[in-house]
Amino acid sequence: MGRGYRAHMIRWAPRQTFVDELEGMFEGWRADRVESPGLLVANADLATELGLDPEWLGTPDGVATLLGAAPLPHRTVAQAYAGHQFGSYSPRLGDGRALLLGEALTADDRRVDIHLKGSGRTTFSRGGDGKAAVGPMVREYIIGESLHALGLPTTRALAVVATNETIARDRPLPGAVLVRVAASHLRVGSFQYAASTGDTALVRRLADHAIARHHPQCAADPQPYLALIEAVSAAQARLISQWMAIGFIHGVMNTDNMTISGESIDFGPCAFMEAHDPRAVFSSIDHGGRYAYGQQPGIAQWNLARFAETLLPLLHDDVQEAIRLATEAVEHFADLFRLEYVARMRAKLGLVDPHMSGDDAVSIVNSLLSSMTSHKIDHTLAFRSLSGVVRGERRAFDALFPDTDDVRQWTQRWLAAVPADLSIRQGIADGMDAVNPVHVPRNHLVEEALAAATAGDLAPLHELVGILRSPFERLPGDERHLRPAPEGWEGYMTFCGT
Ligand code: AMP
Ligand code: MG
Repeated sequence: MGRGYRAHMIRWAPRQTFVDELEGMFEGWRADRVESPGLLVANADLATELGLDPEWLGTPDGVATLLGAAPLPHRTVAQAYAGHQFGSYSPRLGDGRALLLGEALTADDRRVDIHLKGSGRTTFSRGGDGKAAVGPMVREYIIGESLHALGLPTTRALAVVATNETIARDRPLPGAVLVRVAASHLRVGSFQYAASTGDTALVRRLADHAIARHHPQCAADPQPYLALIEAVSAAQARLISQWMAIGFIHGVMNTDNMTISGESIDFGPCAFMEAHDPRAVFSSIDHGGRYAYGQQPGIAQWNLARFAETLLPLLHDDVQEAIRLATEAVEHFADLFRLEYVARMRAKLGLVDPHMSGDDAVSIVNSLLSSMTSHKIDHTLAFRSLSGVVRGERRAFDALFPDTDDVRQWTQRWLAAVPADLSIRQGIADGMDAVNPVHVPRNHLVEEALAAATAGDLAPLHELVGILRSPFERLPGDERHLRPAPEGWEGYMTFCGT
């Protein structure tokens, strides 16, 4: 299909691979009927990637499709998954308020899931009402667009549709359905669910499905399932290193919120860190700091261990040997993460000299981070200010960093490691600006946009997302978007508002 063509219909894949291949991993289910829906957000950029006419999303036919109310050539299903939530295992979570609408093909023939959140109770709902509120669904849109613009793999919102129903939370709130596009919704928790059935053939089918869909190179490996553990580790090492570089805190890295594809997913109590601090936590329910900023690589590895455990029966007939292989693969995550992380941090600091050792780079990075922590310096502004110093223009840096011994010593040591040749310093500084964003979703502005959207005013949301789409460039009128939250926001928490 030509890229210029704008369809008035989602291009559903002829083969719905999840439903066709994975009987036992879902229940057929329909979305609740919505009497008087109203389109709140239509993501024109993502619609275009899907080969859709963005205008169509707002038509009655478009909205009916987005809500799962239009006839489809296949079944819609609630997916089953298990998961460790804050470390404790739930054997049956699943789509308690979500549905897989189907697998679609993008304009460039990639297969994606189109998925609803807030579409009503399902067989997996337990005590929940199956609904979602406008605010948290709009947050998913904001965060997904921001991460995408920053170059991170992420699920994204195609639309947010108001249901014009009131739902009961700590107070009555307007309801919404999020229409989400993802490479897939396979999670570590999907494998935990398959393994918990005791049906090794199901685990194998799921693993083969995941390989075909996300890590096809594993199929040719003599040990395809071991290769899958390695491939998922590599994808997660890459993703988490990107989160760390931009100061993103996911907030709920439960195993059911970790994808096999390596995309970021399920943005609840997430936040971009302002004052740099490895202990930074924004989720009101994360009392122990399990998912704090600095914990994320370790938690990812813990989750990968849970993933690897599900594949043990496929790794080797001898259990001890299977455990040895899996352990080695999971331990390898630490090396993969470090390589990714060091490469990203070097780019952020302009440490481009190929003769500099990784250890030296890490030591410079760590001492910067420790000064940023002790002086409570804004993560985004701090990194962005470094290119100025490389250009010989220290104003932004001096406005952020105090004139203390640690900072003076660090600056000297760092600048001595950045190639001195003035003719290449400009290029190095430009390279730093291409990886150190100016625009990230500032928590107070996200909250402002969510509150306005909840009250029916979408202007702040559109302004915010417009700015977040150009993360590396200053834009006219963006001053307000550059500053950290005003005094009084230090204790900012995102309530797991669902
Ligand atoms: P989450 O915190 O969004 O990752 O969801 C964790 C689990 O709780 C998933 O199984 C969800 O489907 C389920 N869940 C969350 N909110 C609701 C709700 N309002 N109704 C039913 N299930 C829910
Ligand atoms: Mg989740």
